Amino acid sequence: MRNQRTLRKTVELAGTGLHSGKKVCVRICPAPIDAGITFVRTDLDGLSIPAHVKNVSIDHSVLSTTLLRGSASIQTIEHLMSAANGFYLDNLRVELDGPELPILDGSAAPFVQAFRDSGIKEQAVRQSFYTVSKVVEFEEGNKFIRVEPSRELTVSYKIEFGPRLNQHLDFTLSKHAFDSAISQAKTFCFLEDIEKMRDLGLAKGGSLENALVIGSEGVINPEYQTYQDEFVRHKILDFLGDIRLLDRPMVGNFTVSRGGHAFHTRFLSFLLEENLLTTIENLENVSSWVALPCPVPV
Ligand SMILES: [Zn+2]
Repeated sequence: MRNQRTLRKTVELAGTGLHSGKKVCVRICPAPIDAGITFVRTDLDGLSIPAHVKNVSIDHSVLSTTLLRGSASIQTIEHLMSAANGFYLDNLRVELDGPELPILDGSAAPFVQAFRDSGIKEQAVRQSFYTVSKVVEFEEGNKFIRVEPSRELTVSYKIEFGPRLNQHLDFTLSKHAFDSAISQAKTFCFLEDIEKMRDLGLAKGGSLENALVIGSEGVINPEYQTYQDEFVRHKILDFLGDIRLLDRPMVGNFTVSRGGHAFHTRFLSFLLEENLLTTIENLENVSSWVALPCPVPV
């Protein structure tokens, strides 16, 4: 079992949005018990949108996960959400002065570093979790997710992008596992897709420093690659961010094949609509949750 957690103090990050190409400053602030994670547009009179799947715009969530309220959007939230999930942060207020989170180095590592710089504050209420009430399978075309009820969070993820890119990884969230195995995995794309994304008005802030680019002979910027199987690790990073779009973290044994943001979030909506989630009040006697990562310089 563990208590709810937030940051000890506000941290700031600045950078460029991957798709919008717009400069943006982000302040990640502590938030009270049961506040959850909320994004706030300081450039729009403090318009706030809770980080919940009911506020996700599926139409705008093909290459990134986007919250929408009225005409105001907050794009590319997934890497911050993943870092929050991986570091067991439950309550955060995320202020930004533009429509998109900064891409930074394309991974979740800068958010992890910001959390380290702040330190983590344990709050005086136990955190509850969701899992599924029974085995659930969700399928769309060749995309597939299966989840079994569990008191741990495991993800077995498979990507198949044709002969150039097939990877598979089994990941269990435990002490330091997110930090070492997932957080540094960068976003990626295929060289031939860059033109298409630009034509759609996307990836304006993309560069060889913040995305691994796969050409016909392999990765064209391997100097920025951390893991040999970085692509599937990044898909797990994205998935961990997308399944955090509920009012509490989710545990379960997940098997995912060929997922993406829109598919991940449609799956989460399906779990809610079909009433397939059940609450675990106390995650007791689960070894991986006992020794929580507490990146506090003491
Ligand atoms: Zn991503």
